[in-house]
Amino acid sequence: MKKLELHWKILIGMALGVVFGFIMTNFDFGKDFISDWIKPFGTIFINSLKLIAIPLILASLVKGISDLKDISKLSQMGGVTIVTYIITTVIAVSIGLIVVNVIKPGDSISEETRIELIGAYESDADQKREVAANTKNSGPLQALIDVVPSNIVYAASNNKNMLQVIFFAILFGISMILIPPNNSKPIKEFFDSLNKVILKIIDLIMLFAPYGVFALLATLIVEAPQWDLLKSLLLYSITLIFGLSLLIILYVIIVKIFTGKGPNYFLKGILPAQLVAFSTSSSAATLPVTMDRVHNHLGVKEEVSSFVLPIGATINMDGTALYQAIAAVFIAQTFGLDLSLGAQLGIILTATLASIGAAAVPSAGIIVLVIVLSQAGIPEAGLALIFAVDRPLDMCRTIVNITGDATVSMIVAKYVEKSGDPKVNNGDDNYKNVKG
Ligand code: ASP
Repeated sequence: MKKLELHWKILIGMALGVVFGFIMTNFDFGKDFISDWIKPFGTIFINSLKLIAIPLILASLVKGISDLKDISKLSQMGGVTIVTYIITTVIAVSIGLIVVNVIKPGDSISEETRIELIGAYESDADQKREVAANTKNSGPLQALIDVVPSNIVYAASNNKNMLQVIFFAILFGISMILIPPNNSKPIKEFFDSLNKVILKIIDLIMLFAPYGVFALLATLIVEAPQWDLLKSLLLYSITLIFGLSLLIILYVIIVKIFTGKGPNYFLKGILPAQLVAFSTSSSAATLPVTMDRVHNHLGVKEEVSSFVLPIGATINMDGTALYQAIAAVFIAQTFGLDLSLGAQLGIILTATLASIGAAAVPSAGIIVLVIVLSQAGIPEAGLALIFAVDRPLDMCRTIVNITGDATVSMIVAKYVEKSGDPKVNNGDDNYKNVKG
């Protein structure tokens, strides 16, 4: 019998997890059983992905950069990457604003439901606001300071410091290019080989993925909040999912235009990473899988994918940006506030910056949403309104976040290939033969 492809196995794991979760909600012992005996396997899966994130970034980024022969190529690639990331984010926020202004999901929420929702989630929302307040209180250049670590061992000891590790890896890779090749040879061989070992570890972890997602989804179902409250937020959820779907369609079109690769090739290549993103709600945890898929299945050469993707996981969150626009305007609508054009344009700016600042972890989007709300003069208490459905929507926006990163890495790969750089020392063009 033909071996089942990975994305099918993951999909089956997800479906069985949902069914199992629903079955267990019918039993008194169901919730405890899942949290004692099933949930730990989901946690183990996420931990094992996170475990490999920092070593992967270090090894693949150092390898990718040291494969380049000159630094001008790196700065060119960096420039295109950042500009493309910002453009896609602004497009995402704009799509969000258009969709939410056309559908107007906030108008369907009655005064009564609003009070009920705010009452139910007030304390959760307060917690998020406190976290956001700490972020807001820092100076304008704090984000820049945060990129440069004062201690690499300390930086590498926390997945939240991914940008710091990226900074160190880039510096390390550049310095390797700058010293004579015979001096850098041993360290280059070390990183090449380390990289191979880490990629193998990812393969091994992915063998466990179907079971991991089963556990994650079964847990999600038994821990889901009250269903009647969820129903009142249905139109808001549909609006957001519609906006996110439009973005995915846009990515497919962009990939086709820039690289000539069809939807089937692109979506099939990235699907397993999307499923892991959905199940874990974290772009950072998904990064190892995204890197594997983009490199091995979408054919983007490692020097590009290893540079573009880790940066993208931390700063490019199109799904989160679109969500912020929709959530902010939705809250304003429920409170009966009419946002001026100026306020909506302000949302484009703050949502773009907030999505860049959001960490690649579950619920990061709702924390930075506070910043968008306060800039636009929308009551922060409105956060409590959308809390009930935030987790499932987080799962959906994380899919878009990693798909956006994959799209940009394909564009950058094409750009690097087009700029026809003969100085890349390890091969032909930036699309290599792929596994399929
Ligand atoms: N969970 C998202 C991510 O990791 C961030 C968010 O909360 O929007 O990409």
